Amino acid sequence: MPLRTLDSLGSLAGKRVIVRVDFNVPLKEGVITDDGRIRAALPTLNHLLNSGARVIACSHLGRPDGTPDAKYSLQPVAQRLSELLGSPVAFARDTVGESAQGASAALDDGEIAVIENLRFEPGETAKDDAERRAFAQKLADLGDALVSDGFGVVHRKQASVYELADLLPSAAGLLIEKEVDVLDRLTENPERPYTVVLGGSKVSDKLGVIEHLLPRADKILVGGGMLFTFLAAQGHPVGRSLLEADLIDTVRGYIETAHERGVELILPVDAVMASGFAAGADHVVARSDALEDTPFGADGMGLDIGPTSAEIFADAIRSSKTVFWNGPMGVFEMPAFAAGTRTIAAALTHVDGLSVVGGGDSAAAVRQLGFTDDQFGHISTGGGASLEFLEGKKLPGLEILGWQ
Ligand code: ADP
Ligand code: MG
Repeated sequence: MPLRTLDSLGSLAGKRVIVRVDFNVPLKEGVITDDGRIRAALPTLNHLLNSGARVIACSHLGRPDGTPDAKYSLQPVAQRLSELLGSPVAFARDTVGESAQGASAALDDGEIAVIENLRFEPGETAKDDAERRAFAQKLADLGDALVSDGFGVVHRKQASVYELADLLPSAAGLLIEKEVDVLDRLTENPERPYTVVLGGSKVSDKLGVIEHLLPRADKILVGGGMLFTFLAAQGHPVGRSLLEADLIDTVRGYIETAHERGVELILPVDAVMASGFAAGADHVVARSDALEDTPFGADGMGLDIGPTSAEIFADAIRSSKTVFWNGPMGVFEMPAFAAGTRTIAAALTHVDGLSVVGGGDSAAAVRQLGFTDDQFGHISTGGGASLEFLEGKKLPGLEILGWQ
């Protein structure tokens, strides 16, 4: 069943619409250091406001543990939102109390209020279903309908994401609609050739994604810390590189499955070996079958894919019609080991088709390396949620909106 979208709510003029967004922005001493998540909510909020809805925006911020904590107040977010919208935003000092009720009642058509952090209330994340439902009922009393648009939280069964969507007429906002549309194209009938690029730190974080996407892709490229477990599975010594020895057999299984299914599993032919895990560490390029034949011997650590591998990966990416990339190719936080990640990101910007970046660190990496969001087909806003979607898991926050 498809996702219920905004049009399913009918005319919005004069309706009090609660919008569950993801305003969980990074803060440093009360100052927002990256307002990307607030910007991501703007299309839906503007659409609702222009339709004459009375908007009550709600979100979590940080992990305040079910009790008010000034450090996690959404007030700075409400202020930033007001600047971005270019219009006033009312702010309620509680989540479902008198202030929130008053703010909701005072709204006129086309006006917006932000209520205080959902996680100031224990009911939002309570384990007990009835407790969550009771809190969701208080939220429901603030509005006539729910628009769910916090993609970063759809994998969580929480009151504002799940129970609230059941209590009010509800639909997905534009952000969730786009995320689901794009991620679905990566799992169902992707345009071919379809290449999946995997990196990041650990194989163990990505088992589900590998298992779900391996049979669907034409090519799988492996970089990042996880590549060393793949090389070890082929019998190559890897020095002190990141290695998950307990997963060597699992990885051997992946290599076999790929072979049986005719999926091209491409491992790096070279890697950047360093004397240690430090920005200023000495480093040299070594062949993948001779990683310990460097001045560092068995003490060497692989911190990036090598330049030849990066070119091979880039060619495969550029000649694909669909590309999904998750996980940096190396320790991109240190400039000496960012080249592989930069080459792969650049290749994605040249895909004649759909290119998608998923994963929190991968999204941070492309922005840090100076790429802009519009150079890619899509940069997923939900780290954990997008990976769970691609693992084929059922996400409660989407199922409750009709998605199956
Ligand atoms: P994402 O959040 O995009 O899913 P991950 O969390 O899996 O990505 O991995 C990101 C981290 O992986 C980065 O902090 C990066 O430094 C690290 N990483 C990449 N390559 C290596 C490597 N060869 N050795 C150690 N860490 C690595
Ligand atoms: Mg990460």
